[in-house]
Amino acid sequence: MEKLITEGDLSILKNKDIAVIGYGNQGSAQATIMKDNGLNVIVGNIRDEYAKKAEKDGFKVYDIPEAFERADLVLMLIPDEVAPEVYKSVESIVNKKEGLILDFASGYNVAFGFISPPKTSDVIMVAPRMIGEGELLLHKQGKGYPVFLGVKNDYSGKAWEYAKALAVGIGAIGKPGGIAVKSSFEEEALLDLLSEHTWAPILVASIKAYFDIVTEKYGASPEAAILELYASGELAEIARAMADVGIFKQMKFHSTTSQYGQFSRAEKYYDILRRITEDEAEKIWNGEFAKEWSLEQIAGKPVLNRLWNIYTESKLSKSEESLYKILGRDKNE
Ligand code: NDP
Repeated sequence: MEKLITEGDLSILKNKDIAVIGYGNQGSAQATIMKDNGLNVIVGNIRDEYAKKAEKDGFKVYDIPEAFERADLVLMLIPDEVAPEVYKSVESIVNKKEGLILDFASGYNVAFGFISPPKTSDVIMVAPRMIGEGELLLHKQGKGYPVFLGVKNDYSGKAWEYAKALAVGIGAIGKPGGIAVKSSFEEEALLDLLSEHTWAPILVASIKAYFDIVTEKYGASPEAAILELYASGELAEIARAMADVGIFKQMKFHSTTSQYGQFSRAEKYYDILRRITEDEAEKIWNGEFAKEWSLEQIAGKPVLNRLWNIYTESKLSKSEESLYKILGRDKNE
């Protein structure tokens, strides 16, 4: 099979009953797009606000075990932290339903063995690289978006065809801008987590270090530092330009002084960042991080709570709060 896929045969899902479990960010968007694409979709959710919203949007809502009973294809669109516990509550239904197609929007739980569906199921992954709101917006504009596809169990021999068809069903491919990458549960988990463990925290740490140094040692005003760092929106524009024209081609939009500074320092930091990346990738790949995060959750997330406190109580956070008040930006939005 080709690595980059732009088409799938939606008709193989037309006679299937499809259950979306969870009507949150991904669930509400994917269910709505599949319904628009003529698929038979029901929702599985506990009786609460999410269920009411699904009913208001025109879906039949069942409790989660009943949705599993009714479906030929189940999309598990609940947070990764709670999915193993929910899966445990329906495992006996899955074990009985030979040929059930089980879809995940991320590789994490299956890759690290927190969910192990039986060999009698097709286990597929259709993992959007897009938030639900973005999926809906692009759907309305007649455009697609990127997804990663994976197959863990191919009981029917048609699992890849189902994954491609579902990528069409949720509006990712078969339209301009849409692309599916043939991947795996393990690869998706690695790529996703490695972003969260390398460039994203390095950006946060370096923004905080910059802010602390210029305000403490050089007398710069906190407002000027925050506007320069990210509040002006320039950082977001640079990220947009990377997506539109490419990471290096967007450098042409900066002055030559800036180009020289960026390239020469990137060269200087590369070796240390490569070592950090190698180390973090190894910890993800061998399951060490998954174990660390499981223990943290079992203990009631003490480290996460402590870190939230430290960062939100920092001078950067407090200065941002007063600047954003003046700018009329609501921090909670
Ligand atoms: P959300 O946090 O938006 O999911 C909320 C839904 O999950 C609600 O319907 C909620 O129902 C349900 N839920 C939460 N806790 C429980 C529980 N204990 N038991 C049963 N249902 C529960 O999740 P996302 O849409 O963000 O993520 C879903 C999947 O999509 C994940 O695998 C994620 O990795 C993946 N993904 C997410 C992306 C994103 O942008 N958010 C992008 C790509 C993939 P209620 O509270 O009523 O129980």
